[in-house]
Amino acid sequence: MGPTATAQRVVLAEGRSSRRALFADTHHPCLGSGRTLPYSADRGKKSVSRQALNELKQQIPLLDYLHAQDWRPARHLSRGRLMGLCPLHSDHKPSFLVDPSKSLFYCYGCGRGGDVIRFVELYRQVKFPQALTLLHQFRALAPLLHESASFYRMQLHRHGEAVAYLHQRGVRSPELIEHMRIGYAPGGCLRGWLAQLGYPLPVLRQAGLVTAEGYDAYRHRIIFPLDGNLYGRSISVSAPPHRFLPGAKGGLYSWEQVRRYPDVILVEGLFDYAVLWQSGFHNVTCSLGSHLNAPQFQQLCGRTRTVYLAFDVDTNGSGQHAAQCLSRQLKARGITARRVCLPDGHDPNSFFVQGGDARQFQCLLEAAQP
Ligand SMILES: [Zn+2]
Repeated sequence: MGPTATAQRVVLAEGRSSRRALFADTHHPCLGSGRTLPYSADRGKKSVSRQALNELKQQIPLLDYLHAQDWRPARHLSRGRLMGLCPLHSDHKPSFLVDPSKSLFYCYGCGRGGDVIRFVELYRQVKFPQALTLLHQFRALAPLLHESASFYRMQLHRHGEAVAYLHQRGVRSPELIEHMRIGYAPGGCLRGWLAQLGYPLPVLRQAGLVTAEGYDAYRHRIIFPLDGNLYGRSISVSAPPHRFLPGAKGGLYSWEQVRRYPDVILVEGLFDYAVLWQSGFHNVTCSLGSHLNAPQFQQLCGRTRTVYLAFDVDTNGSGQHAAQCLSRQLKARGITARRVCLPDGHDPNSFFVQGGDARQFQCLLEAAQP
């Protein structure tokens, strides 16, 4: 039995009966002296120092990491503790307890608990060394992406062309713009702003926000913040339409707010997502392309649910082909999949932009084919 199983036994042994004792020890059993780290560090040392781990944990408070994954508390308890839905299992009533002062969590539903490193192991389904790597990346990138996204959001309403483009794509509701944290990259001013905040140029280049030549990488693009990335949609027809920063595109969009629904609508693009959400379909999520990465597929398979695939009906048939393949893969995992048949040449965005409404889309959902 590996260290993971041992850790779970220890946490479970602490159990429901002695809630007060749960956070008594600030060191999770995972990181206790009994744990042999399953990898080598520099010069063949067998472990990362306790000090380095503690520093990492201090620099990334568990609550900050949870917020970045869209986790929100449902209740505030005494002594600053928070309770919300568990991101680690299919949770219907809040059972995930977070103590921000100790940066520890415990779930009364699935019985798992620990610190931010343990959370990443469980949430991203990776081993301890990969969890450390992910946290190091998060530590380096998160504040920079946050600053950039905030800057882009400030620009949105200062640029008429950006607002006009959003209107043209059916995005009108201020609530939606706030929900998706939509911004605009005019180009030519992010680098200066971040430099003023103290970010050195090599860091901006490495993150992909600034090109090798020193220019803003995103120019005339609508910006959508993602988990660990920024998606930029060009408003000009002469540039490539889609752009991401280097690195993974992350999991399903806004999954933390969607995962509890028994029926989920999956779309290809964020403008498809936007019009559906705006029309009241809050059980919509987006894969940012018609091919799901492994974490996205695992997210859909996390519980029994019905997935409505509302992919593009484009002339070359690629969207529908992808939907068929995904439908088969989901069925093989016991997930009910239904393909939504939009009119020829449409995606959910164009369907709504060209006059479709929520009632008509609901009819399409009801008529969706297995
Ligand atoms: Zn749980």
